[in-house]
Amino acid sequence: MNHRINRSIRVAEPVLDGNEALYVMDCLQSTWISSRGTYIDRFEGLLAEFCQVPYAVVTNNGTSSLHLALAAAGIGAGDEVIMPTLSYVATANAAHYCQAKPVFVDCEPNYLSMDPERIEEAISPRTKAILTVPLYGHPVDIDPIRQIAQRHGLLVIEDAAEAIGALYKGRRVGSLADASSFSFFGNKTITTGEGGAITTADEQLASRMRFLRGQAVDPSKNYWHPEVGFNYRMTNVAAAIGTAQAERLDIHVQRRQQVAQWYFEELSEHQDIFQLPWTAPWAQHSYWMYTILMRPELAVSRDEWIRLLAESGIESRPVFYPIHSMPMYFERSDKYPVAERCSRLGINLPTHGKLTRDDVSYVCRHVIAAWNSLYRTQSKPHVRAA
Ligand SMILES: *Cc1c(COP(=O)(O)O)cnc(C)c1O
Repeated sequence: MNHRINRSIRVAEPVLDGNEALYVMDCLQSTWISSRGTYIDRFEGLLAEFCQVPYAVVTNNGTSSLHLALAAAGIGAGDEVIMPTLSYVATANAAHYCQAKPVFVDCEPNYLSMDPERIEEAISPRTKAILTVPLYGHPVDIDPIRQIAQRHGLLVIEDAAEAIGALYKGRRVGSLADASSFSFFGNKTITTGEGGAITTADEQLASRMRFLRGQAVDPSKNYWHPEVGFNYRMTNVAAAIGTAQAERLDIHVQRRQQVAQWYFEELSEHQDIFQLPWTAPWAQHSYWMYTILMRPELAVSRDEWIRLLAESGIESRPVFYPIHSMPMYFERSDKYPVAERCSRLGINLPTHGKLTRDDVSYVCRHVIAAWNSLYRTQSKPHVRAA
């Protein structure tokens, strides 16, 4: 292998090739840089339209948006929220901020989101909501989940931070649940630097979220606050970037789908070694992160694999550690074998709109070479012991 770093490929990178600079300059020149200004409404309008719902409420990040959705939906002390253990930690933290208890469910082995078959056994008299996470851009199988929710009188909320642009039976992620939360962190499909949003068809919920987002100020009496609210407002500058990003949302999603297509072309002949992303017949994947899992019998150290890729100038990331394995949510449990296996065997490969066909073949060459060299080393330890 060539150990010279001749490239630097980041795992994620924003693409700001629309009206971003123009709109940000407009904020600066007009001095509307705080959380009032026209871009906030424009961004919310574009998001609602894209997600095929009447309302979008933007916030200062994707953790606050999820917290806001749960709080506005009335999740509170002692309530239980069912969620996948294989997710970003923000999913559980948002419930924790409401003094609710996250109740974890294992994931499904093909598309890695919460297994609908495992939800019902997690329901208790305290359960208030099912919090679904379309992981890495693949939608969850929402219809059976909604049926379960209906039977038990539960809310369905989506932490859709990773799945803007994905489709479920032709419907947009963002329109599938009572409320859906998005993130616009710099590594997400569209970005505002830091930012978030909730989409919903529920007018009351939308207006309650707007109320709580702005420190719960009485709409008809300024500086009067009848409840404890939050300052979760997005700035007009962030919304200006978001407006420009959202104007080209289809393009941003299509670029990732193109990158995924290239990965499939390069890696499909190696499916004896790697499980490649799977798409359910009812889904259109938005490929936030192209994710591969080693076959368990051919596994090498995931962390060594990542380290070797870094030596070739390729940034990658481990599949999330299951949230139940972290100290504050720790459970000694054998209830989550699929999540634990995916976490141990999986990495996210660089996925963003600036990658070229050539970048993708460079990445794949090194993914295979690095796996190969680790596999050979570990299968003949005595040969390499020196
Ligand atoms: C990115 C992300 C969030 C929100 O992250 P922020 O950094 O707060 O915007 C929440 N949940 C999941 C699953 C995510 O991937």
